[in-house]
Amino acid sequence: MYFNKRVLVTGGAGFLGSHLCERLLAEGQDVLCVDNLYTGSKHHIAHLLSDHNFEFMRHDITFPMYVEVDEIYNLACPASPVHYQNDPVATTKVNVHGAINMLGLAKRRRAKILQASTSEVYGDPDVHPQPESYVGSVNPIGPRSCYDEGKRCAETLFFDYWRQHRLQIKIARIFNTYGPRMHPNDGRVVSNFIVQALNDQPITIYGDGSQTRSFAYVDDLIEGLVRLMKTDDAVTGPINLGNPGEFTILELAKKIIEITGSTSKIVHHPLPIDDPRKRKPDISLARDILKWQPAVDLDAGLEKTIAYFETLFSEK
Ligand code: NAD
Ligand code: UDP
Ligand code: UDP
Repeated sequence: MYFNKRVLVTGGAGFLGSHLCERLLAEGQDVLCVDNLYTGSKHHIAHLLSDHNFEFMRHDITFPMYVEVDEIYNLACPASPVHYQNDPVATTKVNVHGAINMLGLAKRRRAKILQASTSEVYGDPDVHPQPESYVGSVNPIGPRSCYDEGKRCAETLFFDYWRQHRLQIKIARIFNTYGPRMHPNDGRVVSNFIVQALNDQPITIYGDGSQTRSFAYVDDLIEGLVRLMKTDDAVTGPINLGNPGEFTILELAKKIIEITGSTSKIVHHPLPIDDPRKRKPDISLARDILKWQPAVDLDAGLEKTIAYFETLFSEK
């Protein structure tokens, strides 16, 4: 008898998680989506509930969980600075206790486990672009530390379970990703600017806008995650997944104003503490090992994302 692979996606009702669930279902996998709906939403997965290969379970992964699965994508964690700083202790807990529980589950099941890590492990980088070998420059006691150090500790745990218990681990270091289903109020730069532009409100640039980011479109990112999970046991990562196109925040604002045809004006607000000055992935490893590189450039991705927000607002 043939059984589908049973795949657990933690944080599956979030932005990236819901796209990942969709993709895995399209491949015919049996998907268990676990989420406490802290920043995620049942709306993101409503269209998947009628698929008999899809199940949703409301659960906080900082608490133990016993389910029978073959693969785990560990995405549970608020990702936007506004959300992860809202309850910083919960952010560290989901990254540390949550990772321990999922690693314990993977150990009991001998399941393969992938961690959604982040470019934030590089902090405010002294090396540019950032290769995986760069160990980072992270403040352990600032307002971003719950996320940055939480994700760094999760990587430590993954490697210790790999060394100590011979788990099959995969670590993806995800750079800024955007696309449909970003929360309109989650405070991230792409969603903020699009929402402001569509409503002809001021575009809020923090600082002078000379800081840079590299933006990956969600479909490219999901393709990278799925490819990483399929690699053979020798591949653990960490592997950078992101789009090496680098833009200043001011360039991003101008692009969004232009594409939307908005009358919004740019205003400047103070730069948040420890805001990284630059960010750009070196994706040589992903190119070599995963045969992966982004296919969607910023203009094309922004157009799709803007269209999503236009529809969202027209339905209200
Ligand atoms: P998101 O906030 O939309 O999704 C996170 C999901 O995790 C939400 O559905 C939330 O409800 C859930 N969650 C939070 N705490 C939980 C808990 N204790 N138990 C169960 N579920 C919990 O964010 P996202 O952008 O989809 O990010 C997904 C993952 O990717 C995160 O781990 C994030 O750190 C990582 N990541 C994202 C980006 C990005 O640009 N989007 C960049 C780097 C890393
Ligand atoms: N755990 C879990 N689900 C499982 C197996 C383990 O949530 O299916 C949790 C368990 O609560 C434990 C953690 O994962 O606290 C780490 O498990 P591990 O086996 O590494 O540690 P131990 O149980 O020996 O402390
Ligand atoms: N940013 C901004 N205006 C906003 C939101 C964010 O200028 O309304 C800046 C922010 O200070 C940072 C960059 O845009 O320099 C990316 O911010 P985001 O929160 O999206 O991601 P992260 O800082 O985690 O890369």
